[in-house]
Amino acid sequence: MKTMFLIVTLWGMSWLTGCSDSNMNAAQIRVKLEAIPMKEKVRLSDDEWRKILTPEQFYVMRERGTEKPFAQQCWAPHQSGTFVCAACGNPLFDSDTKFESGTGWPSFNQALEGDRVQIATDTSHGMTREEVNCARCSSHLGHVFHDGPPPTGLRYCMNGVALRLVNLEKATFAAGCFWGVQAAFDETRGLLKTQAGYTGGHVKDPTYEQVCSHTTGHAEAVEVEFDPAVVTYKQLLNIFWSIHNPRQKNRQGPDIGDNYRSAIFFHTPEQKAAAEASKAEQEAMGTDKGPIVTEIVPAGVFYPAEAYHQHYKSKSCGIQR
Ligand SMILES: [Zn+2]
Repeated sequence: MKTMFLIVTLWGMSWLTGCSDSNMNAAQIRVKLEAIPMKEKVRLSDDEWRKILTPEQFYVMRERGTEKPFAQQCWAPHQSGTFVCAACGNPLFDSDTKFESGTGWPSFNQALEGDRVQIATDTSHGMTREEVNCARCSSHLGHVFHDGPPPTGLRYCMNGVALRLVNLEKATFAAGCFWGVQAAFDETRGLLKTQAGYTGGHVKDPTYEQVCSHTTGHAEAVEVEFDPAVVTYKQLLNIFWSIHNPRQKNRQGPDIGDNYRSAIFFHTPEQKAAAEASKAEQEAMGTDKGPIVTEIVPAGVFYPAEAYHQHYKSKSCGIQR
């Protein structure tokens, strides 16, 4: 037993320090990387990064190099989506903040909220510049200058090889206390952002106390942004069904009230069709258990919950009160 504990401890320590098994091949390293929840830091060894990045990406992102201007695609203005870190998938910039700087490097005037990038002082090449790194995997991305367009006046001058453009989709689910729902989706690969909040009611900018008073009509919900190339909406629906009892009306475990109702808030006609088909499938699998009471309704305004509710690790709101 002690030996097992030692092995587990050493494995954990090697993970934290980045000195992990260098015998893994590129596919195994990618699997390991994708299994790390998006909100957690990524620490791979240089050897591992070298196996999954191109030589130019390794030079730019891990050796703090700079690609030649116009060497990489800068992406046409009509290409919309979210620019993520090419090494770890961390969302960094929205295409709406991209502008034509004429420099030959993709340029943005604003990073996504949520401390996605970290700024460090770079005194190399006889200059003092503000270096921009990915806050999740510490890869070098480029520099930020104070000569950009309004409203920020910033110019994030990025290396094209350090970015990947993805088209994220939104999905919104209510399945009881949003703490547990968010915790489940935070562990899901392909989800680049999750937010706990309130939706489906009639009161603007509701507080947690108002929602818990059952007078706003809002459900505690979680809005996720996912990369459909990595995880499908159907897979998210399967997770949704697995984390709660959709046959319980206005309650989940100790949490009772309409704010804990089961609901799918669809964003597109395709999501509506997929949700209805998935609900029918679930009902067919448990005909003896009674009807599923999950609402399938259009997504309305989503109000993010107070900061202290975000990524709160608990299955139930009721147990904590
Ligand atoms: Zn990264």
